[in-house]
Amino acid sequence: MRGVFARWWRRRTLHDRLSLLVTAAVAAAVLTVAGIAFAAVFQIQRQQLRSQLDADARSIAAQPDQWRDGPPPAGPGGRRDLRFRRDIGPRWQVLGRDAAVSSRSTNGLPVTEGARRVAAGQQAQHQEEVELDGRSYLMLTVPAGRGGGAVQVAVDQGPANRTLTVFGLLMAAGCVVGTGGAAALGRTVARAGLVPVQQLTKAVEDVAVTMDLNRPVPIHGVDEIARLGQSVNTMLAAIDAARRSQRALVEDAGHELRTPLTSIRTNIELLLAVERQPDLAHRLPPEERAKLLRDLEAQVGELAALTTELVELAREETAREPAEDVELTDVVGAAVDRVRIRVPSVTFGTDLRPVIVHGRPNELERMLVNVLDNAAKWSPPGGVVHTLLTTDEDWCVLRITDEGPGIDADDLPHVFDRFYRAPAARGMPGSGLGLAIVAQTAAQHGGTVTAGPNTPHGTVVTIRLPAT
Ligand code: ATP
Ligand code: MG
Repeated sequence: MRGVFARWWRRRTLHDRLSLLVTAAVAAAVLTVAGIAFAAVFQIQRQQLRSQLDADARSIAAQPDQWRDGPPPAGPGGRRDLRFRRDIGPRWQVLGRDAAVSSRSTNGLPVTEGARRVAAGQQAQHQEEVELDGRSYLMLTVPAGRGGGAVQVAVDQGPANRTLTVFGLLMAAGCVVGTGGAAALGRTVARAGLVPVQQLTKAVEDVAVTMDLNRPVPIHGVDEIARLGQSVNTMLAAIDAARRSQRALVEDAGHELRTPLTSIRTNIELLLAVERQPDLAHRLPPEERAKLLRDLEAQVGELAALTTELVELAREETAREPAEDVELTDVVGAAVDRVRIRVPSVTFGTDLRPVIVHGRPNELERMLVNVLDNAAKWSPPGGVVHTLLTTDEDWCVLRITDEGPGIDADDLPHVFDRFYRAPAARGMPGSGLGLAIVAQTAAQHGGTVTAGPNTPHGTVVTIRLPAT
């Protein structure tokens, strides 16, 4: 039974449950108050009836002789006690010691066993309910004063019972009206109480449909629902941040893969051109061709390694390669070698002073490759890209210079923004992500990166990293 109720209860909506609870609580309160009031009125009425009866019985018992025959005598001042005229008021009866009726009102009373015992002096008094002419009477028998015997007095309980019935009916009607009111109140309270919940639900549903995580759900007040709303907003912000970083990861991955792919494609196109037009073969002597193929192999290897790295990164963004003490000259050397293969027309020079930094070697290498790629991309054929590594107190300073056209002063503040490409660069391949990645990596390692003009011409990119 309890299980059935529990299941039924769980299937109700929150609105239904709330209105039922409010209704039940108010109805219980109304019923309790009505019950107590009815019991109190019943008790008071009975009490009044009894004390009235008691007073009447005792006033007759005080002078039973005067009641033995005829109507009551005149009191002081010649007034008769009309309450006890034979034919009106309570019924009464005076009994002798042998329980014989010596005097009574117009309609007498039954001489019960209890009355006999009181008349015989065996019992102090006796109270009972008796049925007379189809009506219920409350009858009290007390000993008569002088001369012995007993006095019986009885009152009709009908009027009192009728009053009680009317009162009971009024109470019941009040309960019905009260419970109905409670039900209406319950519904109103539930509806009003659930308005913020419905608003929140709608706001969250809207987000689910539009997938617009930048629109926080509106919050009113400081109650529990407002706190829930705040939590929802915090969650939306966290999801948005996760989505952004995922998108950034995909974009970065695309960028990292595109540069080596472009250079592989250029080399393959060169080999294919020679293949298709054998008369061009003299332009690509066998040793050049072998070198090209070796470069291609190295580039494909690099691409494969990069792909693995990126997949790892995408799978578990937090599980990045561990930071360790790295000899920066090794990292610079590896980065220069990679770019040198891609851009053979440019000369790469280095001047490196050994220095240890604490960082992630692969990320540092990718950072340098990006800067060197730019320098090589904008260098004129035969140009020189130079990398200088020095230390400055607790910092190691990397300066990568080229002999290209340089960066316009207008573009300088923006080149580290994601997807920013100077108008002059728009004819060149690229996505504008390289320097953004460089800035991010430098910052993650506690360093900075700046770009500026090189003298007499070209660009200098300066990276500062904390040395250990
Ligand atoms: P990507 O690196 O994504 O392939 P990109 O090289 O155009 O594309 P970034 O590396 O972010 O993008 O560089 C941003 C812009 O800064 C470039 O578009 C270019 O205008 C300018 N820039 C960067 N390095 C140099 C440089 N060495 N010489 C001249 N301009 C440069
Ligand atoms: Mg670039």
